[in-house]
Amino acid sequence: MRAGTIVDVMERFDIVVIGGGIAGVTAAHYLSSAGRSVVLLERESQLAYHTTGRSAALYFENYGHLSVRALSKASRRVFENPPPGLSEQPLLSPRGSLMIARPHQMDHFDQIVSEGLATGVPIERLSAAQAGELVPSLRTELIEAAVWEPDAADMDVAAIHQMYVKGLRRSGGGIRVNAGVIGIGGGGGDWRVSTATGNDIGCSVIVNAAGAWCDEMAGLAGIPPIGLQPRRRTAFMVPGEPGWRNWPLVADIDHDFYFKPDGSQLLCSPADETPVGPCDARPDELDIAIAIERINEATTLGIRTVRSSWAGLRSFLSDEGMGIGFDPSHEGFFWLAGQGGTGIQTAPAAGMLAAGLILEGVVPEELARHGVDATAFAIERFR
Ligand SMILES: Cc1cc2nc3c(=O)[nH]c(=O)nc-3n(C[C@H](O)[C@H](O)[C@H](O)COP(=O)(O)OP(=O)(O)OC[C@H]3O[C@@H](n4cnc5c(N)ncnc54)[C@H](O)[C@@H]3O)c2cc1C
Repeated sequence: MRAGTIVDVMERFDIVVIGGGIAGVTAAHYLSSAGRSVVLLERESQLAYHTTGRSAALYFENYGHLSVRALSKASRRVFENPPPGLSEQPLLSPRGSLMIARPHQMDHFDQIVSEGLATGVPIERLSAAQAGELVPSLRTELIEAAVWEPDAADMDVAAIHQMYVKGLRRSGGGIRVNAGVIGIGGGGGDWRVSTATGNDIGCSVIVNAAGAWCDEMAGLAGIPPIGLQPRRRTAFMVPGEPGWRNWPLVADIDHDFYFKPDGSQLLCSPADETPVGPCDARPDELDIAIAIERINEATTLGIRTVRSSWAGLRSFLSDEGMGIGFDPSHEGFFWLAGQGGTGIQTAPAAGMLAAGLILEGVVPEELARHGVDATAFAIERFR
Protein backbone atom coordinates (compact mmCIF):
# COMPACT_ATOMS: atom_id res chain seq x y z
CA MET A 1 0.00 0.00 0.00
CA ARG A 2 1.35 3.44 -0.86
CA ALA A 3 1.96 5.82 2.02
CA GLY A 4 -0.93 8.25 2.39
CA THR A 5 -3.60 5.96 0.84
CA ILE A 6 -6.88 6.22 2.72
CA VAL A 7 -8.61 2.89 3.26
CA ASP A 8 -12.39 3.16 3.60
CA VAL A 9 -13.31 0.67 6.33
CA MET A 10 -16.95 1.69 6.34
CA GLU A 11 -19.31 -1.14 7.32
CA ARG A 12 -21.97 -2.04 4.76
CA PHE A 13 -25.46 -3.46 5.13
CA ASP A 14 -28.20 -3.88 2.56
CA ILE A 15 -30.59 -1.90 4.77
CA VAL A 16 -30.27 0.56 7.66
CA VAL A 17 -33.43 1.02 9.76
CA ILE A 18 -33.55 4.21 11.81
CA GLY A 19 -35.61 3.93 15.02
CA GLY A 20 -36.13 1.12 17.53
CA GLY A 21 -39.83 1.69 18.23
CA ILE A 22 -42.47 -0.75 17.07
CA ALA A 23 -42.31 0.48 13.45
CA GLY A 24 -38.55 0.05 13.16
CA VAL A 25 -38.24 -3.38 14.80
CA THR A 26 -41.16 -4.78 12.82
CA ALA A 27 -39.84 -3.68 9.43
CA ALA A 28 -36.29 -4.73 10.38
CA HIS A 29 -37.53 -8.20 11.33
CA TYR A 30 -39.41 -8.82 8.07
CA LEU A 31 -36.52 -7.49 5.97
CA SER A 32 -33.88 -9.48 7.83
CA SER A 33 -35.87 -12.70 7.83
CA ALA A 34 -36.13 -12.36 4.02
CA GLY A 35 -32.35 -12.70 3.89
CA ARG A 36 -31.19 -9.08 3.68
CA SER A 37 -28.39 -7.76 5.89
CA VAL A 38 -30.03 -5.28 8.23
CA VAL A 39 -28.89 -3.05 11.06
CA LEU A 40 -31.27 -1.08 13.26
CA LEU A 41 -29.99 2.17 14.76
CA GLU A 42 -31.58 3.63 17.90
CA ARG A 43 -30.54 6.93 19.44
CA GLU A 44 -31.60 6.13 23.01
CA SER A 45 -29.90 3.63 25.33
CA GLN A 46 -32.99 1.40 25.17
CA LEU A 47 -35.44 0.50 22.43
CA ALA A 48 -39.10 1.58 22.64
CA TYR A 49 -38.23 4.47 24.96
CA HIS A 50 -40.47 6.97 23.14
CA THR A 51 -44.05 6.53 21.90
CA THR A 52 -44.02 2.73 21.71
CA GLY A 53 -43.33 2.45 25.43
CA ARG A 54 -46.12 4.90 26.30
CA SER A 55 -49.26 3.64 24.57
CA ALA A 56 -52.64 2.65 25.99
CA ALA A 57 -52.18 -0.79 24.40
CA LEU A 58 -55.66 -1.21 22.95
CA TYR A 59 -56.40 -3.04 19.70
CA PHE A 60 -59.51 -1.33 18.44
CA GLU A 61 -60.64 -1.90 14.85
CA ASN A 62 -63.34 0.75 14.57
CA TYR A 63 -60.74 3.47 14.93
CA GLY A 64 -58.23 5.44 12.93
CA HIS A 65 -58.10 6.64 9.34
CA LEU A 66 -60.08 4.40 6.98
CA SER A 67 -56.93 3.51 4.99
CA VAL A 68 -55.24 2.00 8.05
CA ARG A 69 -58.12 -0.23 9.09
CA ALA A 70 -57.04 -2.93 6.65
CA LEU A 71 -53.62 -2.87 8.35
CA SER A 72 -55.27 -3.33 11.76
CA LYS A 73 -57.32 -6.27 10.51
CA ALA A 74 -54.33 -7.96 8.87
CA SER A 75 -52.26 -7.43 12.05
CA ARG A 76 -54.79 -9.21 14.21
CA ARG A 77 -54.02 -12.47 12.42
CA VAL A 78 -50.33 -12.05 13.37
CA PHE A 79 -51.14 -11.22 16.99
CA GLU A 80 -53.25 -14.39 17.16
CA ASN A 81 -50.75 -16.56 15.25
CA PRO A 82 -47.28 -15.07 15.83
CA PRO A 83 -44.38 -16.12 13.57
CA PRO A 84 -43.25 -19.63 14.68
CA GLY A 85 -40.93 -19.71 17.69
CA LEU A 86 -41.05 -15.99 18.38
CA SER A 87 -43.69 -15.72 21.11
CA GLU A 88 -45.06 -18.30 23.50
CA GLN A 89 -47.51 -15.98 25.27
CA PRO A 90 -50.85 -14.51 24.15
CA LEU A 91 -50.34 -11.08 22.62
CA LEU A 92 -54.01 -10.07 22.85
CA SER A 93 -56.42 -10.48 25.76
CA PRO A 94 -60.16 -9.75 25.75
CA ARG A 95 -61.23 -6.21 26.69
CA GLY A 96 -64.01 -4.82 24.46
CA SER A 97 -64.60 -1.15 23.83
CA LEU A 98 -67.58 1.05 24.50
CA MET A 99 -67.90 4.47 22.86
CA ILE A 100 -70.55 6.56 24.53
CA ALA A 101 -72.47 9.46 22.98
CA ARG A 102 -74.54 12.24 24.54
CA PRO A 103 -77.58 13.65 22.66
CA HIS A 104 -75.63 16.46 20.93
CA GLN A 105 -73.05 13.96 19.63
CA MET A 106 -75.44 11.78 17.64
CA ASP A 107 -74.31 12.99 14.18
CA HIS A 108 -70.78 11.87 14.95
CA PHE A 109 -72.14 8.69 16.54
CA ASP A 110 -74.00 7.80 13.31
CA GLN A 111 -70.86 8.44 11.28
CA ILE A 112 -68.75 6.17 13.55
CA VAL A 113 -71.36 3.41 13.32
CA SER A 114 -71.64 3.60 9.53
CA GLU A 115 -67.82 3.65 9.10
CA GLY A 116 -67.54 0.60 11.34
CA LEU A 117 -70.24 -1.32 9.48
CA ALA A 118 -68.80 -0.31 6.07
CA THR A 119 -65.36 -1.60 7.04
CA GLY A 120 -66.75 -4.86 8.39
CA VAL A 121 -65.91 -4.33 12.06
CA PRO A 122 -68.19 -6.36 14.34
CA ILE A 123 -69.91 -3.59 16.28
CA GLU A 124 -73.29 -3.24 17.95
CA ARG A 125 -75.40 -0.23 18.85
CA LEU A 126 -76.34 -0.25 22.55
CA SER A 127 -78.85 1.76 24.56
CA ALA A 128 -77.75 3.76 27.60
CA ALA A 129 -79.15 1.05 29.86
CA GLN A 130 -77.14 -1.66 28.08
CA ALA A 131 -74.00 0.47 28.37
CA GLY A 132 -74.71 0.82 32.08
CA GLU A 133 -74.89 -2.95 32.47
CA LEU A 134 -71.36 -3.22 31.09
CA VAL A 135 -69.98 -0.32 33.17
CA PRO A 136 -72.24 0.37 36.17
CA SER A 137 -70.40 3.60 37.08
CA LEU A 138 -71.58 5.37 33.91
CA ARG A 139 -74.14 8.14 34.43
CA THR A 140 -76.56 6.60 31.96
CA GLU A 141 -78.95 9.56 32.20
CA LEU A 142 -76.37 11.56 30.19
CA ILE A 143 -75.95 8.93 27.47
CA GLU A 144 -78.06 8.70 24.33
CA ALA A 145 -76.42 5.61 22.78
CA ALA A 146 -73.18 3.62 22.69
CA VAL A 147 -71.13 1.60 20.17
CA TRP A 148 -69.94 -1.74 21.50
CA GLU A 149 -66.96 -3.45 19.87
CA PRO A 150 -66.71 -6.79 21.68
CA ASP A 151 -63.52 -7.95 19.92
CA ALA A 152 -61.42 -4.94 20.96
CA ALA A 153 -58.51 -6.32 22.96
CA ASP A 154 -55.62 -5.36 25.21
CA MET A 155 -52.24 -5.77 23.52
CA ASP A 156 -49.10 -6.87 25.35
CA VAL A 157 -46.98 -4.16 23.71
CA ALA A 158 -43.71 -5.17 25.39
CA ALA A 159 -44.17 -8.78 24.26
CA ILE A 160 -45.04 -7.71 20.71
CA HIS A 161 -41.97 -5.47 20.51
CA GLN A 162 -39.74 -8.18 22.00
CA MET A 163 -41.09 -10.75 19.57
CA TYR A 164 -39.77 -8.67 16.66
CA VAL A 165 -36.47 -7.93 18.40
CA LYS A 166 -36.03 -11.69 18.87
CA GLY A 167 -36.93 -12.34 15.23
CA LEU A 168 -34.46 -9.72 14.03
CA ARG A 169 -31.64 -11.16 16.15
CA ARG A 170 -32.47 -14.72 15.16
CA SER A 171 -32.14 -13.92 11.47
CA GLY A 172 -28.76 -12.25 12.05
CA GLY A 173 -29.88 -8.61 12.07
CA GLY A 174 -27.92 -6.08 14.12
CA ILE A 175 -29.30 -3.73 16.77
CA ARG A 176 -27.30 -0.74 17.98
CA VAL A 177 -28.46 1.51 20.81
CA ASN A 178 -26.89 4.89 21.68
CA ALA A 179 -26.41 5.10 17.91
CA GLY A 180 -28.37 8.21 16.96
CA VAL A 181 -28.15 9.10 13.29
CA ILE A 182 -26.49 12.50 12.94
CA GLY A 183 -25.82 12.65 9.22
CA ILE A 184 -26.96 11.06 5.96
CA GLY A 185 -24.89 11.43 2.81
CA GLY A 186 -24.71 9.90 -0.62
CA GLY A 187 -27.91 9.05 -2.46
CA GLY A 188 -29.10 7.23 -5.53
CA GLY A 189 -29.36 3.99 -3.57
CA ASP A 190 -25.82 4.31 -2.18
CA TRP A 191 -26.22 5.94 1.21
CA ARG A 192 -23.76 6.76 3.96
CA VAL A 193 -25.28 7.01 7.45
CA SER A 194 -23.22 8.65 10.22
CA THR A 195 -24.00 7.89 13.84
CA ALA A 196 -23.22 9.46 17.20
CA THR A 197 -20.84 6.57 17.91
CA GLY A 198 -18.54 7.97 15.27
CA ASN A 199 -18.79 5.28 12.63
CA ASP A 200 -20.33 5.49 9.19
CA ILE A 201 -22.46 2.76 7.66
CA GLY A 202 -23.05 2.26 3.96
CA CYS A 203 -26.33 0.84 2.62
CA SER A 204 -28.61 0.67 -0.41
CA VAL A 205 -31.84 1.36 1.46
CA ILE A 206 -32.63 3.53 4.48
CA VAL A 207 -35.90 2.84 6.33
CA ASN A 208 -36.92 6.02 8.10
CA ALA A 209 -38.88 4.77 11.15
CA ALA A 210 -37.80 7.51 13.54
CA GLY A 211 -41.32 8.26 14.84
CA ALA A 212 -41.77 11.97 15.58
CA TRP A 213 -38.31 12.62 14.09
CA CYS A 214 -39.02 11.24 10.58
CA ASP A 215 -39.05 14.67 8.91
CA GLU A 216 -35.80 15.54 10.72
CA MET A 217 -34.16 12.38 9.39
CA ALA A 218 -35.20 13.29 5.85
CA GLY A 219 -33.74 16.76 6.41
CA LEU A 220 -30.35 15.21 7.24
CA ALA A 221 -30.41 13.62 3.78
CA GLY A 222 -31.51 16.86 2.09
CA ILE A 223 -34.96 15.39 1.40
CA PRO A 224 -38.04 17.63 1.80
CA PRO A 225 -40.32 16.89 4.77
CA ILE A 226 -43.73 15.28 4.35
CA GLY A 227 -45.34 17.50 6.99
CA LEU A 228 -45.36 15.20 10.00
CA GLN A 229 -46.99 16.76 13.08
CA PRO A 230 -46.35 15.16 16.47
CA ARG A 231 -49.23 15.62 18.91
CA ARG A 232 -48.83 15.09 22.64
CA ARG A 233 -51.14 12.64 24.38
CA THR A 234 -51.33 12.30 28.17
CA ALA A 235 -52.18 9.23 30.21
CA PHE A 236 -52.29 8.52 33.92
CA MET A 237 -53.15 5.79 36.40
CA VAL A 238 -55.64 6.04 39.24
CA PRO A 239 -56.42 3.41 41.88
CA GLY A 240 -58.97 0.82 40.75
CA GLU A 241 -61.24 -1.69 42.44
CA PRO A 242 -61.40 -5.46 41.84
CA GLY A 243 -64.94 -5.17 40.44
CA TRP A 244 -63.70 -2.90 37.59
CA ARG A 245 -61.11 -5.31 36.18
CA ASN A 246 -63.34 -6.70 33.43
CA TRP A 247 -64.79 -3.42 32.26
CA PRO A 248 -64.20 -2.55 28.61
CA LEU A 249 -62.38 0.57 27.52
CA VAL A 250 -64.84 3.46 27.75
CA ALA A 251 -64.31 6.37 25.35
CA ASP A 252 -66.29 9.48 24.63
CA ILE A 253 -67.38 9.33 20.98
CA ASP A 254 -65.65 12.68 20.27
CA HIS A 255 -62.54 11.41 22.11
CA ASP A 256 -62.89 13.91 24.95
CA PHE A 257 -61.60 11.25 27.36
CA TYR A 258 -61.15 7.53 27.77
CA PHE A 259 -60.42 5.08 30.56
CA LYS A 260 -59.79 1.35 30.82
CA PRO A 261 -58.74 -1.10 33.54
CA ASP A 262 -55.03 -1.88 33.68
CA GLY A 263 -54.32 -4.57 36.27
CA SER A 264 -55.51 -3.20 39.60
CA GLN A 265 -55.59 0.40 38.30
CA LEU A 266 -57.56 2.47 35.83
CA LEU A 267 -55.66 4.02 32.90
CA CYS A 268 -57.20 7.40 32.03
CA SER A 269 -56.59 10.00 29.32
CA PRO A 270 -58.06 13.33 28.20
CA ALA A 271 -57.32 12.08 24.64
CA ASP A 272 -55.42 15.34 24.12
CA GLU A 273 -53.79 16.12 20.79
CA THR A 274 -51.57 19.13 21.47
CA PRO A 275 -49.27 19.91 18.51
CA VAL A 276 -45.62 19.97 19.65
CA GLY A 277 -42.17 19.50 18.12
CA PRO A 278 -40.38 16.15 18.38
CA CYS A 279 -39.26 15.77 22.02
CA ASP A 280 -39.27 13.57 25.09
CA ALA A 281 -42.90 14.41 25.93
CA ARG A 282 -43.93 15.12 29.51
CA PRO A 283 -47.48 15.26 30.92
CA ASP A 284 -49.09 18.60 31.66
CA GLU A 285 -50.95 18.88 35.00
CA LEU A 286 -53.74 20.81 33.32
CA ASP A 287 -54.45 17.98 30.85
CA ILE A 288 -54.70 15.54 33.76
CA ALA A 289 -57.08 17.86 35.61
CA ILE A 290 -59.24 18.18 32.47
CA ALA A 291 -59.46 14.40 32.11
CA ILE A 292 -60.43 13.93 35.76
CA GLU A 293 -63.15 16.55 35.44
CA ARG A 294 -64.58 14.97 32.25
CA ILE A 295 -64.47 11.41 33.59
CA ASN A 296 -66.02 12.42 36.91
CA GLU A 297 -68.77 14.24 35.04
CA ALA A 298 -69.58 11.15 32.94
CA THR A 299 -69.31 8.60 35.76
CA THR A 300 -69.70 8.13 39.50
CA LEU A 301 -66.01 7.15 39.83
CA GLY A 302 -65.12 10.28 41.83
CA ILE A 303 -61.44 10.18 40.83
CA ARG A 304 -59.23 12.20 43.20
CA THR A 305 -55.84 10.44 43.31
CA VAL A 306 -53.33 10.10 40.48
CA ARG A 307 -50.69 7.40 40.99
CA SER A 308 -48.50 8.01 37.94
CA SER A 309 -48.65 9.89 34.66
CA TRP A 310 -46.84 10.10 31.33
CA ALA A 311 -47.17 11.53 27.84
CA GLY A 312 -46.13 10.43 24.39
CA LEU A 313 -46.16 11.77 20.86
CA ARG A 314 -48.63 10.47 18.29
CA SER A 315 -47.37 11.71 14.92
CA PHE A 316 -49.79 12.52 12.12
CA LEU A 317 -49.61 13.40 8.43
CA SER A 318 -51.97 16.01 6.99
CA ASP A 319 -54.62 13.48 5.90
CA GLU A 320 -54.18 11.38 9.09
CA GLY A 321 -53.16 8.34 7.00
CA MET A 322 -49.69 6.77 7.16
CA GLY A 323 -46.70 7.39 4.89
CA ILE A 324 -45.29 3.99 3.88
CA GLY A 325 -43.27 3.94 0.68
CA PHE A 326 -40.13 5.05 -1.13
CA ASP A 327 -39.53 8.75 -1.47
CA PRO A 328 -40.54 9.51 -5.09
CA SER A 329 -37.39 11.49 -5.87
CA HIS A 330 -34.69 9.89 -3.69
CA GLU A 331 -33.86 6.32 -4.60
CA GLY A 332 -33.53 3.96 -1.64
CA PHE A 333 -35.04 6.31 0.97
CA PHE A 334 -38.10 4.57 2.45
CA TRP A 335 -40.58 6.29 4.76
CA LEU A 336 -42.42 4.44 7.56
CA ALA A 337 -44.09 7.41 9.20
CA GLY A 338 -47.33 8.88 10.55
CA GLN A 339 -48.44 5.97 12.75
CA GLY A 340 -50.66 8.33 14.76
CA GLY A 341 -52.76 6.58 17.37
CA THR A 342 -52.70 3.13 15.76
CA GLY A 343 -48.99 2.37 15.39
CA ILE A 344 -49.01 -0.70 17.64
CA GLN A 345 -52.18 -2.34 16.38
CA THR A 346 -51.10 -1.91 12.75
CA ALA A 347 -47.39 -2.70 13.21
CA PRO A 348 -47.19 -6.29 11.93
CA ALA A 349 -49.00 -5.45 8.68
CA ALA A 350 -47.16 -2.12 8.29
CA GLY A 351 -43.84 -3.97 8.70
CA MET A 352 -44.86 -6.61 6.14
CA LEU A 353 -46.03 -3.90 3.75
CA ALA A 354 -42.70 -2.07 4.09
CA ALA A 355 -40.76 -5.28 3.44
CA GLY A 356 -42.97 -6.19 0.45
CA LEU A 357 -42.54 -2.76 -1.14
CA ILE A 358 -38.78 -2.64 -0.51
CA LEU A 359 -37.96 -6.17 -1.62
CA GLU A 360 -40.51 -6.89 -4.37
CA GLY A 361 -42.17 -3.56 -5.09
CA VAL A 362 -45.59 -5.05 -4.33
CA VAL A 363 -48.12 -5.44 -1.53
CA PRO A 364 -47.72 -8.95 -0.07
CA GLU A 365 -50.56 -11.27 -1.10
CA GLU A 366 -51.71 -11.76 2.49
CA LEU A 367 -52.20 -8.00 2.92
CA ALA A 368 -53.82 -7.54 -0.49
CA ARG A 369 -56.45 -10.09 0.56
CA HIS A 370 -57.32 -7.77 3.46
CA GLY A 371 -57.70 -4.86 1.07
CA VAL A 372 -54.36 -3.13 1.79
CA ASP A 373 -53.68 -0.71 -1.08
CA ALA A 374 -50.15 0.75 -1.42
CA THR A 375 -51.40 3.93 -3.09
CA ALA A 376 -53.26 4.89 0.10
CA PHE A 377 -49.86 5.10 1.86
CA ALA A 378 -47.77 6.56 -0.98
CA ILE A 379 -45.46 9.50 -0.27
CA GLU A 380 -46.42 11.13 -3.60
CA ARG A 381 -49.58 12.46 -1.96
CA PHE A 382 -47.50 14.95 0.06
CA ARG A 383 -45.49 16.25 -2.90
C1 LIG B 1 -50.82 7.87 25.32
C2 LIG B 1 -50.77 7.09 24.03
C3 LIG B 1 -51.69 6.08 23.80
C4 LIG B 1 -51.62 5.30 22.65
N1 LIG B 1 -52.45 4.24 22.53
C5 LIG B 1 -52.35 3.42 21.46
C6 LIG B 1 -53.17 2.26 21.37
O1 LIG B 1 -53.97 1.98 22.26
N2 LIG B 1 -53.02 1.46 20.26
C7 LIG B 1 -52.11 1.73 19.27
O2 LIG B 1 -52.02 0.97 18.30
N3 LIG B 1 -51.32 2.84 19.35
C8 LIG B 1 -51.42 3.67 20.42
N4 LIG B 1 -50.63 4.79 20.49
C9 LIG B 1 -49.78 5.15 19.34
C10 LIG B 1 -48.54 4.28 19.25
O3 LIG B 1 -47.90 4.22 20.51
C11 LIG B 1 -47.60 4.86 18.17
O4 LIG B 1 -48.31 4.94 16.94
C12 LIG B 1 -46.37 3.98 17.94
O5 LIG B 1 -45.73 3.67 19.15
C13 LIG B 1 -45.38 4.69 17.01
O6 LIG B 1 -44.24 3.85 16.91
P1 LIG B 1 -42.93 4.34 16.17
O7 LIG B 1 -41.99 3.19 16.14
O8 LIG B 1 -43.31 4.99 14.89
O9 LIG B 1 -42.36 5.54 17.08
P2 LIG B 1 -41.43 5.52 18.38
O10 LIG B 1 -41.84 4.46 19.32
O11 LIG B 1 -41.39 6.91 18.91
O12 LIG B 1 -40.02 5.10 17.81
C14 LIG B 1 -39.21 5.99 17.05
C15 LIG B 1 -37.78 5.75 17.50
O13 LIG B 1 -36.89 6.46 16.66
C16 LIG B 1 -35.81 6.86 17.44
N5 LIG B 1 -35.05 7.93 16.81
C17 LIG B 1 -35.44 9.22 16.64
N6 LIG B 1 -34.44 9.92 16.08
C18 LIG B 1 -33.41 9.06 15.88
C19 LIG B 1 -32.11 9.19 15.33
N7 LIG B 1 -31.63 10.37 14.91
N8 LIG B 1 -31.32 8.09 15.27
C20 LIG B 1 -31.76 6.88 15.72
N9 LIG B 1 -32.98 6.72 16.27
C21 LIG B 1 -33.80 7.79 16.34
C22 LIG B 1 -36.46 7.30 18.75
O14 LIG B 1 -35.53 7.36 19.82
C23 LIG B 1 -37.53 6.24 18.92
O15 LIG B 1 -37.07 5.14 19.72
C24 LIG B 1 -50.65 5.59 21.64
C25 LIG B 1 -49.73 6.62 21.86
C26 LIG B 1 -49.78 7.36 23.04
C27 LIG B 1 -48.76 8.44 23.26
